[in-house]
Amino acid sequence: MRSVLLLTAVIELHAHTTFSDGTLTPTDLVAAARVAGVRALAISDHDTVSGWDEAIAAATDTNLEIVPAIELSTVHNGRGMHILGFWPDPQRLQQPLSQRQLGRRQRGEAMATKLAELGYPIALPVLPNGAVPGRPHLAYALVAAGHARSYDDAFHRFLRDGGPAYVDYGKFTAVEGIRLLRDCGAIPVWAHAYLFRGGQPEAVLPELLEAGLMGLEVIHPSHSASDVRKLERLCDRHQLLPTGGSDYHGPHPDGKGHHASRLNGLGVPYEWLDWLKEARDELRAA
Ligand code: AMP
Ligand code: FE
Ligand code: FE
Ligand code: ZN
Repeated sequence: MRSVLLLTAVIELHAHTTFSDGTLTPTDLVAAARVAGVRALAISDHDTVSGWDEAIAAATDTNLEIVPAIELSTVHNGRGMHILGFWPDPQRLQQPLSQRQLGRRQRGEAMATKLAELGYPIALPVLPNGAVPGRPHLAYALVAAGHARSYDDAFHRFLRDGGPAYVDYGKFTAVEGIRLLRDCGAIPVWAHAYLFRGGQPEAVLPELLEAGLMGLEVIHPSHSASDVRKLERLCDRHQLLPTGGSDYHGPHPDGKGHHASRLNGLGVPYEWLDWLKEARDELRAA
């Protein structure tokens, strides 16, 4: 299938805006995707859907299709696990999400306080209404204040899990997150499974399938060619939908990408979006 990619339209099913930890506004992300020749773009901010409306407005009367999505931060086996959801009903998500968003805001302030106590005061950025803060915001602020050499340095020295400035906040379990997305009419997909530190994908999968997982993010900048092959095999074996995207977070203040990725570099075929849409329509008809 991937040998004919040059002939097929290319899509991006994983991207972030200034409503979470991306550096481009939805409007600018849409413009960048159009310049890059992307045919369909998912707006999948961390724990918020607030970026959708602006992206949809910016893409009106263009040939770029917006796929409304979200990336939920969950925990499984004591480790962070990201679950993408495609086409969740925003009204039904609102109440359960508001708790997580409050947690993220409080966690951001608590980490800034810890940094100040350690002797590294920073200014928290002002975010758009409805945006949720993440650790990357703190990393940028540490670099801007001269306390860290780079984004990676900020994570390594202060922000990483268990690091000196780390503060936890309440997350859904992965099972809760998957069930919530299904309840909201969304297709839940395990994001970047090979970044998960709580077990090998094949070992962890049964529990997630039981909860209602419907897909695996096969193509991601962090996945090697062999990771991609293994995930494709898992999709075949469990009849899971493949998705993919560059997890684009916009250009980076210190020149390196959040995931060092660019738009339209990974060749995710449009056909995968067709399959997702068929599954969504079956889900809604059921
Ligand atoms: P948060 O969801 O606010 O805890 O932030 C997590 C985000 O920070 C992840 O999506 C990663 O992109 C980024 N991140 C987490 N750990 C690291 C690390 N050690 N180095 C660089 N980026 C990281
Ligand atoms: Fe992110
Ligand atoms: Fe992620
Ligand atoms: Zn992401």
